Amino acid sequence: MEENGKKPSTEAEAEERWQFGPNKAVEVAGGRSIRGTLNKIIACVEETGPRPMIPLGHGDPSVFPSFRTTSIAEDAIVEAVRSAKYNNYSLTNGVLTARLAIAEYLSKDLPYQLSPDDVFVTAGCAQAIEIVITALARPDANILLPRPGFPLYEARCTFNHLEMRHFDLIPEKGWEVDLDQVEKLADENTVAIVLINPNNPCGSVLKYQHMEEIAKTAKKLGIMVVTDEVYDHLTFGSNPFVPMGALGDIVPVLTLGSISKRWVVPGWRLGWIVTTDPKHILRKTKFVDSIRSYLDITTDPATFIQGAVPQIIKNTKDDFFNNIIHVLRDTAEICYNKIKDIKCITCPHKPEASMFVMVKLNISYLENISDDVDFCSKLAKEESVIVLPGSALDMKNWLRITFAAEPTSLVVGLERLESFCKRHEKVEQISP
Ligand SMILES: *Cc1c(COP(=O)(O)O)cnc(C)c1O
Repeated sequence: MEENGKKPSTEAEAEERWQFGPNKAVEVAGGRSIRGTLNKIIACVEETGPRPMIPLGHGDPSVFPSFRTTSIAEDAIVEAVRSAKYNNYSLTNGVLTARLAIAEYLSKDLPYQLSPDDVFVTAGCAQAIEIVITALARPDANILLPRPGFPLYEARCTFNHLEMRHFDLIPEKGWEVDLDQVEKLADENTVAIVLINPNNPCGSVLKYQHMEEIAKTAKKLGIMVVTDEVYDHLTFGSNPFVPMGALGDIVPVLTLGSISKRWVVPGWRLGWIVTTDPKHILRKTKFVDSIRSYLDITTDPATFIQGAVPQIIKNTKDDFFNNIIHVLRDTAEICYNKIKDIKCITCPHKPEASMFVMVKLNISYLENISDDVDFCSKLAKEESVIVLPGSALDMKNWLRITFAAEPTSLVVGLERLESFCKRHEKVEQISP
């Protein structure tokens, strides 16, 4: 081989001139995903023997016995398959009975009735995000995203060349939106503000009064609210969950959701985009046309899953939901109390919803640990415990801990976290 590599030295090399290579745009967009970050942390785990890895990094507790979905949902799927009614392609906006069921389900918490035409069935909330961001990404537009947030929004914006502007959630105020900042960030090209409620990663719920302020601000700015309510009803503190769509008469709201979290079946890939917009502004401005057009060129969730949705929604007993809430309340409590014992970690707001809590890492208490990524890598290596570094959410020296785990595993995981922190604590200098 020649040093400059230009002139091939053999005939074989001369033939190997491939015109393809990596697409940097995909690498940049995918680079900041939660999965990508967690895979790097998991790679640090040492296979040293019988100690099982404890995953407190991601939000999929379906593997744990306490989080098994209801048999009613499982039966609904089996029946849908056996009926042979769902072997066809579905309509691009979804099977009508599924849209009807989702419209009914969400209308229960709204002051008005949704129609099946308000509902677009998607392959999980993740595809709902892809579709909405794509539909919003007209040239020159910008969008307001929360920090911390859910990196799939950033990835989709990057991919669609939609400019993002981040507003902060304020930890000392229960992770409320910094509305002054929102007003400063917005301009005549801003199209939407994204909320995640109940919140991943903060474990918080928006208070109704604050939601009203957000709605009025959005109205004033002439932008829509996109609300990611994939953790709808997964609340266990004193703040109740109120859907943003309840304020749809103030400002048009697009509600994103799925059965992934409440039914603990993220692998089933069934979600939705819903126009919670009683004044039909999203239709009048023809924004909805972009959603429809994009749906024509995307894949749909499996038809039999859609066929099962009405039974899943109608037949699931309150006992199932209450039990999941009960487990989450317990595990959140276990997590919060343990964190109080650990000197280098502080929790600004007790988790009251979703499956996560954000905690601040006080690096200055630790020896030989440079930042949150270093902390999580060494924790994985030494204790086989996986936690998400806040850097993945643009929150350097914070951590996101998942408490949605089997309680026994969670306790062991948190004990290992504690002994890791103690072992790495800076020894106080005692002056002679
Ligand atoms: C899990 C999650 C999603 C994706 O949900 P799926 O239905 O599994 O695609 C979207 N947004 C947030 C905030 C999530 O935590």
